[in-house]
Amino acid sequence: MLTEIRGLHHVTAMAGEVRASNAFFTRTLGLRRVKTTVNFDAPEVYHLYYGDAAGTPGTVMTHFPFPDIGPGRRGTGEAGTTVLAVPEGTLSWWEAHLSAAGVAGIDRDRRFGDARLRFAGPDGEGLALAEAPGDPRPGWAGGGVPADSAIRGLRGVALRLADVAPMAELLRLMGYAEAGREGAVTRFRRAGGNGADTIDLERAPGERPAVQGRGSVHHIAFSVRDRAAQDRVRRALIAAGLGVTPPVDRDYFWAVYFRTPGGVLFEVATDGPGFARDEDPAHLGEALKLPRRHEHLRARLEAHLPPITA
Ligand code: ZN
Repeated sequence: MLTEIRGLHHVTAMAGEVRASNAFFTRTLGLRRVKTTVNFDAPEVYHLYYGDAAGTPGTVMTHFPFPDIGPGRRGTGEAGTTVLAVPEGTLSWWEAHLSAAGVAGIDRDRRFGDARLRFAGPDGEGLALAEAPGDPRPGWAGGGVPADSAIRGLRGVALRLADVAPMAELLRLMGYAEAGREGAVTRFRRAGGNGADTIDLERAPGERPAVQGRGSVHHIAFSVRDRAAQDRVRRALIAAGLGVTPPVDRDYFWAVYFRTPGGVLFEVATDGPGFARDEDPAHLGEALKLPRRHEHLRARLEAHLPPITA
């Protein structure tokens, strides 16, 4: 069993119109946009990162906004719900806040003892806020949400799968342990992790496979401290029969990717060098940052990409 993985690093989704989704994540959810860059493999598309003040691994959601993409179809083989941690006793504040922001379909539930508020994001993405008592992470109070209610970071994701067993085996290899079962849901946790330490497996045999589109999670990334830890994880995954890419330089972290049994794309990302590597920590996300190899496209991209005002 691996001990290097500390929980999630980030969750990456495909968005639609950039201004609506940016306003929702920065003002309504109150996250900080910590980096404004482009998709390294398709630089005509933004890659936006949202998180706490520094974009600490385990607090980060990222978006590829494709203005003309069709809606995703929910189903198996994807991360159907991204769960964010909020302080204990704040769900009523959040329910009123989301209602006032025009969020429809808000639903309260309880899973493994966690009080939760489920709702859809502006692109139909499945989101939930879960009260996380004792979560020591500070969150970000510079957005639209007061400090005592602010999102602390990711808590985890729920994966919808036709067959849970191969994913359960993989999570055990990655250092997670089963923490309980409720109906068709099995919870896995990374003990002593970074707070973004919960993966729920939702068994949905017979359900159609998901089709990626607007509102779909593209991949989920797990956090490791450094490249040596990433290399140990990569070798163990390859020894277990998974096809893992070589490390890729993403400027703010190094990433390896692999397709899991059941279809969900996983990444393992290093905690460094982080989002302050090319920007003053007081001004993260304010300027368009381009990867070095795309810097020569700056004039064309600045003319093409829609301005983000918030
Ligand atoms: Zn990623």
